[in-house]
Amino acid sequence: MSEHQAKTETFFTIEMPYRERMETRRTVFAGSRGPRVAVVAGVHGDELEGLYVCHRLAAWLEELLQSSPDALLGSVELYPAVNTLGLDTLSRGLPVFDTDLNRAFPGSATGPLPDRLSAALMTALSGAALVVDIHASNIYLREIPQVRIDHEFDDLLVPIARRMNLDLIWLHSAATVLETTVAHSLNCTGTPCLVVEMGVGMRITPEFCDQLVAGIVTVWKEMGVLAPDVATPPTSHVPLIADDSNVHYLNAQTSGMFIPTASHWTDVRRGELLGTIVSPFRGDILSEVRSPVDGILFTLREYPLVYEGSLMARVMARKGGRT
Ligand SMILES: [Zn+2]
Repeated sequence: MSEHQAKTETFFTIEMPYRERMETRRTVFAGSRGPRVAVVAGVHGDELEGLYVCHRLAAWLEELLQSSPDALLGSVELYPAVNTLGLDTLSRGLPVFDTDLNRAFPGSATGPLPDRLSAALMTALSGAALVVDIHASNIYLREIPQVRIDHEFDDLLVPIARRMNLDLIWLHSAATVLETTVAHSLNCTGTPCLVVEMGVGMRITPEFCDQLVAGIVTVWKEMGVLAPDVATPPTSHVPLIADDSNVHYLNAQTSGMFIPTASHWTDVRRGELLGTIVSPFRGDILSEVRSPVDGILFTLREYPLVYEGSLMARVMARKGGRT
């Protein structure tokens, strides 16, 4: 077998109250002389898109190394299932502790379980040349493949994000940043981390996953993780740039059931009907959701039951569009 054969190893373990041990694992493809990169997924236990991306990356690397054992210069680490307990029980957070793991970073090696797991992941990822943390929105909203970047780090991260074969780069102002995420904690300590959001919770969108895989391996090749002569899948997606000035949030005017009439990720016109909210008790329409601008429908409600104020959609205004 090649020296590059993948190894699955435990990076965090803790004894469970009864008998078993919880083990959180990563797969490592180790080269000898290039940079180290990592992909993280499953921080939220209801988000599966990133788990499939890890599988596709592993499959792509295994096939590559079978035909070209020297194609991997650097090291690739895949962390597909960080919140194992959440994934096991179909919960977004860490069960029992009722904690959103992505609000527990940078963690502490002597704290409770969420803190210890966070600290172990920080230690494992620290010093990597690039980390990609993959999220899948949640079960309520469907998203196009995008990178979300805190303005504080845009000089460092936007040039990388532009080459990742995604459709949107969303720059967030510092005020909205959640400082206890794995990405923020890594970026603050000098390890570049991109947050990818795509698809929807509890589902896999294979075409989005393959689109991201193509972008990731293309960036790895440019970074010298892969040999220069490695053939990578074609990339054709050029991201739009969104920020707080051109993203419009559409919230429900009434509670009820949302029935979409527009398709996700399409161009919409100002005033266009995107969906209606109806009641199971009545035959009429309670309220309508209409686009406030000419733009691109890049977020769309997936889960039908809504409360007054629930987010139904996000539309990014086109440049020069009426607002
Ligand atoms: Zn998430």
